Amino acid sequence: MARNRIYLCLAHMSDEGIEQKYIKEAFDTNWVVPLGPNVNGFEKYLEEFVGQNKRVVALSAGTAAVHLALLACGVGPGDEVCVQSFTFCASSHPITYLGATPVFIDSERETWNMDPELLEKAIIDRKEKTGKYPKAIVPVALYGMPYKIDQIMAIANKYGIPVVEDAAEGFGSKFNGQVLGTFGKYGVLSFNGNKMITTSGGGALITENEDEWREIMMYATQYRESYPYYQHEKIGYNYRMSNICAGIGRGQMTVVNDHIAHHKHVQALYEELLKDVKGVTVHSQPATGGYDSNYWLCTITLDPSVKVKGQENAYKTIVTGAVGGAAGVIHAAESATTDCQPNENVEALRVFMDQAQIEARPVWKPMHKQPVYKNAPAYVNGVSEDIFKIGMCLPAGPYVTDEDVKYIVDTIKSAID
Ligand SMILES: *Cc1c(COP(=O)(O)O)cnc(C)c1O
Repeated sequence: MARNRIYLCLAHMSDEGIEQKYIKEAFDTNWVVPLGPNVNGFEKYLEEFVGQNKRVVALSAGTAAVHLALLACGVGPGDEVCVQSFTFCASSHPITYLGATPVFIDSERETWNMDPELLEKAIIDRKEKTGKYPKAIVPVALYGMPYKIDQIMAIANKYGIPVVEDAAEGFGSKFNGQVLGTFGKYGVLSFNGNKMITTSGGGALITENEDEWREIMMYATQYRESYPYYQHEKIGYNYRMSNICAGIGRGQMTVVNDHIAHHKHVQALYEELLKDVKGVTVHSQPATGGYDSNYWLCTITLDPSVKVKGQENAYKTIVTGAVGGAAGVIHAAESATTDCQPNENVEALRVFMDQAQIEARPVWKPMHKQPVYKNAPAYVNGVSEDIFKIGMCLPAGPYVTDEDVKYIVDTIKSAID
């Protein structure tokens, strides 16, 4: 019998269709614009969810949230920003939108996130080399895992540098009971289709207070001054969330806690079922120290000694569209391989799983190994590159059942024996 394909993390709506109720309301009241009751309502829910008396601005994308946060930190041409290298490109690309340079910081092995020691080393070294401190620090909650925020905040405060937490993958993750995105000056959230909750596409910026919130709101709506006509004193952006998307978000806030509980449940099941599989290690949060990951995706590492069926054929053909390309548009890759890629057994496992109707992916390729960033300064210890070679993401979304996890684990076992 043909199996339904199991995806990494698919959008999942509330059983009662609350999202559609809010969308219908928007149509019925003709609020089909990038502002309105759903946007305001969604922001209120988000503020309640994150706590700490924060104010939230709903935006068209998480990338837009990173962009506006950096802008509000005063990042501009000639500046530098310390950003976690082990991440999706949305953490670092907005630095370049502003004419600034990313300074990539490698990870520590416990959480796979920004290494505080390397961060401090980089701050001191940049000051020596350029005469200026970096303008912001961007740690990333990779696959939901909290970063060492207490240490990162201590360093940031020591040098007076603002922190922009990229909690796009870590919505609802906590450190010492406090929601990620509320520790730094700004916190970034994403509601893209594959994130913990979705608005189809969208994001939000968590801000510290009413003044910061107003300023971000101005930038998100083309920075229009209060006149009867359009008067602009600063360059703004068209980044506000649409009232239709926010309707989805409002509905999704009724299931967010269920989603998080489900992701954690799936992670626990993988941990249990994979614990005796030799050469496969499930990446788990540190047992002590206040970590509470939402486990957006389950990640494993595969020991280089493990032999996987079909390994001899790994990277023999050019892959079209495994994760590259967009909306059916792809660049033909120039080669089947690059100078930095997952080990052959990892690629073979990905292909084996693909044929078994399971979507598995390599972990993010570190930004300091991306051709586009070859000239950017990087402070590295080899950790993210090591993990990139042996890491893999497994399905964990709301549609992944216990039976699916068992099937995925059985598939891994049959691929490696
Ligand atoms: C998803 C994501 C973002 C934001 O992406 P959008 O698709 O623009 O919402 C930012 N940082 C990381 C690490 C992400 O995974």
